[in-house]
Amino acid sequence: MTVRDVVIIGSGPAGLTAALYNARADLDVLCVAGYEAGGQLMLTTDVENYPGFPKGIQGPELMQKFRDQAKRFGTEFIDRDCTGVDFSKRPFTIQVEDEEILTRSVIIASGASARWLELDEEEDYRGHGISTCATCDGAFFRDAEVLVVGGGDSAMEEALFLTKFADKVTIVHRRDEFRASQIMQDRALEHPKIDVLWNTEVIEYLGGPPLEGARMIEHPDGKPKQTIPRKHWGKADEHGGRVFDVETDGVFIAIGHDPNTAYLSGELELDGKGYLKVNNRTRTSVEGVFAAGDVHDKHYRQAVTAAGLGCMAAMDAEHWLSHQEG
Ligand code: NAP
Repeated sequence: MTVRDVVIIGSGPAGLTAALYNARADLDVLCVAGYEAGGQLMLTTDVENYPGFPKGIQGPELMQKFRDQAKRFGTEFIDRDCTGVDFSKRPFTIQVEDEEILTRSVIIASGASARWLELDEEEDYRGHGISTCATCDGAFFRDAEVLVVGGGDSAMEEALFLTKFADKVTIVHRRDEFRASQIMQDRALEHPKIDVLWNTEVIEYLGGPPLEGARMIEHPDGKPKQTIPRKHWGKADEHGGRVFDVETDGVFIAIGHDPNTAYLSGELELDGKGYLKVNNRTRTSVEGVFAAGDVHDKHYRQAVTAAGLGCMAAMDAEHWLSHQEG
């Protein structure tokens, strides 16, 4: 059975840059790209901050260019999801559904995915009034009234971006203070089109799909101990809260991201939030397994930083391979 030099799991900027570097170094590279190949940039429209494109570029087009460049030097692709790994012995085993792939080294670049509120029928409303990406979908909400859920930098950024299109943007935050950096809070709070509903959560989508409104719960105050737990939302008034409905054209959910590490099922060390732990540059807790991009970087989360980390992981993997026997 063929043993690859490097298997790269993920095909966003980190994975495809790693593929480019390793393939160009004449290694035998297979990229397990996933069913949603291309990563989060496939969900964006204009990318204006990727260097080298002074007029900007569409996210999917940029990812196609990354992929073409990696392919030009011999990277092979499988557009299916990695379903499991075995790093307990070498060569390592990568499971892609019922197919087993053997490899001498691995680069994990499986990225992160936006969190959803996990309310009833949420999936049915996706793309029909509910979104996790203002840059992708904001333009559909021209002259509209929208809600943005969350209190971190992402929520502020999404709300500010949406003011380009919408008439009114209401940030819905479950506590009475934001988590976002002061400068982002100030920008949002000072914007004439932005309002805030404090101590409030969306508990139900109404009227569709497509969405026509949202049911909300207002907690008695922002202190966590007085936040009404989900199982008591139906009896909010008994807990000092209030349930009310608002009409809205869209709800943008900006409550953070979760790293895509579930398929690793305990084979590598993760931090408390599920991100891969890396030590000494891009090395994970297993020798010969490296990591790049949003799967371990929860701070910068930019296409250009992910690409840089992909380059670093590829160089680290190549260096490590060159010191192995066989
Ligand atoms: P975050 O900082 O973790 O904030 C998530 C927000 O969503 C919090 O306010 C949280 O409420 C709320 N939330 C979480 N789960 C919720 C739920 N189920 N229902 C309602 N609300 C919920 O995530 P982020 O804003 O995506 O930022 C992630 C990192 O990227 C941060 O380090 C941030 O600084 C960085 N970032 C930077 C920029 C920038 O500088 N331009 C832009 C975007 C992101 P609580 O506050 O009550 O926990």
